[in-house]
Amino acid sequence: LVSREMKRESTIIDVGGIKIGNTNLAVIAGPCSVESREQIFDIASELKEMGIKLLRAGAYKPRTSPYAFQGLKEKGLEYLAEVKEKLGMKIVTEVKDTETLPLISKVADVIQIGARNMQNFSLLEAVGKVDKPVLLKRGLAATIEDLLMSAEYILSKGNYNVILCERGIRTFETYTRNTLDLNAVPVVKKNSHLPIIVDPSHGIGIWDKVKPMAMAAVAAGADGLIIEVHNHPEKALSDGYQSLTPKHFKSLLDKLVELAPVV
Ligand code: PEP
Ligand code: MN
Repeated sequence: LVSREMKRESTIIDVGGIKIGNTNLAVIAGPCSVESREQIFDIASELKEMGIKLLRAGAYKPRTSPYAFQGLKEKGLEYLAEVKEKLGMKIVTEVKDTETLPLISKVADVIQIGARNMQNFSLLEAVGKVDKPVLLKRGLAATIEDLLMSAEYILSKGNYNVILCERGIRTFETYTRNTLDLNAVPVVKKNSHLPIIVDPSHGIGIWDKVKPMAMAAVAAGADGLIIEVHNHPEKALSDGYQSLTPKHFKSLLDKLVELAPVV
């Protein structure tokens, strides 16, 4: 179902009027995690002022260490619901398991499946039955074919609104957090009708290198970008080292709007 052979024209995903796919460049921005009501409102307002309509932020965080910040969970979702209502932004947030899916579906405009859950097949089947677009991130050691097969699980249950995301894979390189595999962009574009966006923040993991990789993703033909932005990266509870300040994000955004119609 995900293949170009099944459907020749590229799929455009409608997120409350925002069209992801085709010639648009969807820019999703926000902090890695919701940390407090004040934090999420501050950053969301600042991004909204820049014209950003799609806000990313995790309430349920899949962390490598069980002792690391796990997210504000229900409280975080409540804050996101409030941001959505008061600022009118669309919410992109992660679901970690099937138990919390009903709750997250109520708030999320796009349900994110994280890299660590790309092959959580029961979760894929569950989001396949939800009437909300899904952002499916490539697994840490997943091939492009694996990513497409995971998307197939979602489509096969009836949800055709899947956005793929290249977010870097594990390689022998340790200088960077991951190795952003931009090869995935033209490969997916040729073999699938689904849109593919790129996450240069997790892809390289070092904030001052996010901008060049974001530009490279656009050059490769990505349908969008998802970028971590934090008001005080040095104090962030997760992924501060790869987060842009609003000022640096704005300088990237100014470049992006020269390249494509940003939505
Ligand atoms: C995230 O987007 O903050 C995240 C946890 O990403 P990934 O699943 O790609 O590691
Ligand atoms: Mn993150």
